[in-house]
Order: sequence, then C-alpha cells, then structure tokens
Amino acid sequence: MLARAGSTRELDAVAAVVAACRPPVLVLGRGSNLLVADRGFPGLVLVLDGDFEQIDVRDDAVRAGGAVLLPVLARRAAAAGRTGLEFYVGIPGSVGGGAHERGWPRAGDP
Ligand SMILES: Cc1cc2nc3c(=O)[nH]c(=O)nc-3n(C[C@H](O)[C@H](O)[C@H](O)COP(=O)(O)OP(=O)(O)OC[C@H]3O[C@@H](n4cnc5c(N)ncnc54)[C@H](O)[C@@H]3O)c2cc1C
Repeated sequence: MLARAGSTRELDAVAAVVAACRPPVLVLGRGSNLLVADRGFPGLVLVLDGDFEQIDVRDDAVRAGGAVLLPVLARRAAAAGRTGLEFYVGIPGSVGGGAHERGWPRAGDP
C-alpha cells in the first residue's frame, strides 16, 4: 500500500494508522539508494511531498524538508549566496534519504 503525506497533519494521520495496524513501513525518497525485490514490499510505503518539498533560505540558516531533492537544495542555496551545500548537486537523492543513509546533510559535510 502506498501513502503520501504532504503536511504534518497528514503525516500524523498516517502515523495513527501505523500505530493501530503496525504494518512494516518504508519511507521512500527518490529511490536512489534502494533495491526492491520483485515480490514488492509487504507493508506501507510512505512518500513525502507538499510541505516537505519546501526550502526556506534565511540570513542565518537554510531549512529544507525531507522530500527536497539534494540537487535542488544545492542550487537554491548557491543562488542565495549560501555556500557549503555544493557537493549535493550531483547526488540524486532527497534530504530525508541522505539523512537516513549517511546522517547528512549537516553543516560542514561531506
Ligand atoms: C549516482 C549516485 C551517486 C551517489 N552519490 C553519493 C555520494 O556521493 N555520497 C553519498 O553519501 N551517497 C551517495 N549516493 C547514495 C544516495 O543517493 C543517497 O544515500 C541519497 O541521499 C538517498 O536518498 P533517496 O531519497 O534516494 O533515498 P531512498 O533511496 O529512497 O531511500 C534510502 C533509505 O533512506 C530511507 N529514507 C528515504 N527518505 C526518508 C525520509 N524522508 N525519512 C526517513 N527515511 C527515509 C529509506 O527508507 C531507505 O532506507 C549516490 C547514489 C547514486 C545513485
């Protein structure tokens, strides 16, 4: 089963279903670091979109949702004169996937 959540409210609703039914859960980013068996995934696949695709560039910080594409984040930050995220322009994943897999992006990485 596939569920999409575009806001924290929708995410809360998905979390309530998961708490009640306890299916295996897979959060799917851009799939750049995933191999899925031909038999599929026997549970709930969650895709973030909507609010989680937002980027907020401020004077002192760059905030990005978990569904933001890393190359998009790198380009938006660079266009706003923020340095340090240039490396991510070549990585075809999402902020959430990168954080899950590698613990980045963080200031100073890679
Ligand atoms: C050509 C290429 C180059 C790459 N270069 C690098 C590199 O230089 N350095 C590097 O570290 N990695 C690299 N990667 C690996 C990969 O791109 C990163 O790990 C990427 O950020 C994964 O993001 P994704 O959205 O594709 O995650 P997916 O492949 O969709 O998911 C990967 C894992 O993260 C979990 N996940 C995804 N989104 C979320 C979320 N929002 N919340 C919680 N968990 C989540 C998934 O459940 C899964 O376990 C590369 C991959 C490719 C194909």
